Amino acid sequence: MLNDSHCHFFSPSFFTALARQRSAATSPQELYRELQWDDPLSPEALSDRWVTELDANGVQRAALIASVPGDEASVAAAAARHPSRLVGLFMLDPSAAEAPQRTRAVLSEPGMKGVCLFPAMHHVPLHDDRTLRVVEAAAASPGAMVFVHCGVLSVGVRRKLGLPSRFDLRLGDPLAVARLAATFPQTPFVIPHFGAGLLREALMAADGCANILLDTSSSNSWIRHTPGLTLDAVFKAALGVVGPSRLLFGTDSSFFPRGWQRGIHEHQQTILDRLGVSAGDQSLIFGGNFDRLFPDWLKVKG
Ligand SMILES: [Zn+2]
Repeated sequence: MLNDSHCHFFSPSFFTALARQRSAATSPQELYRELQWDDPLSPEALSDRWVTELDANGVQRAALIASVPGDEASVAAAAARHPSRLVGLFMLDPSAAEAPQRTRAVLSEPGMKGVCLFPAMHHVPLHDDRTLRVVEAAAASPGAMVFVHCGVLSVGVRRKLGLPSRFDLRLGDPLAVARLAATFPQTPFVIPHFGAGLLREALMAADGCANILLDTSSSNSWIRHTPGLTLDAVFKAALGVVGPSRLLFGTDSSFFPRGWQRGIHEHQQTILDRLGVSAGDQSLIFGGNFDRLFPDWLKVKG
């Protein structure tokens, strides 16, 4: 069983938002041409393409992140169309008007299971009251989780398009996630990419809070910031501190035609085999933990 906890849903509205950030005259079609990426056409068509892609790679379920604030309707449409395959997560800027109310409303929609915070991008500290109100709203939503991007943040599509990224990396601190996780111990918190450079802090946070999970997604190229660090050593350390039941496999797949990042899975599986991680523990990391975090909609209904 294979489930991917971290993919991005690059919907038509996502590209419309990026086009507007470049100039009022830029159309999404110009961006597709420039990037040589496929036009997503519609949230429905894109969700169908995702399911076809998951089928082709033997992936059972995937969590898709609406990757600009205000795009939650796209991913909600995808999750509603394929409830047994797709789980919806959405990026939210806690400084937006009525952010807690919107969090509550979106998380009450079927298939919408988590809010994603990017404090370095939105310049709202994790200890800020606005963040606390959003997390409080998520914690009050049954079955919802909170995803908090920490550490280094680089958004590939922004870089490719030459859009400025005025991120404040000081704000993505796993230790500040620990404070929130301790305040809401019943709510799962996910820190992606092992803390993206703040591995030590992510492990400290997760060691102290049983409701913090780490996702393994992306190429984890942040390891180059620590001389000599290898992804093998990262997995070994994470397994030693949080164990196999709090590691969530993910790829960070996003655009088409590239599609699902099979190479990330192969690489991580090779590492876990090399480390001698048992088949049972691997099945938790590659699928079981996902199903525990996002109980299957059909089973919940049935
Ligand atoms: Zn990502």
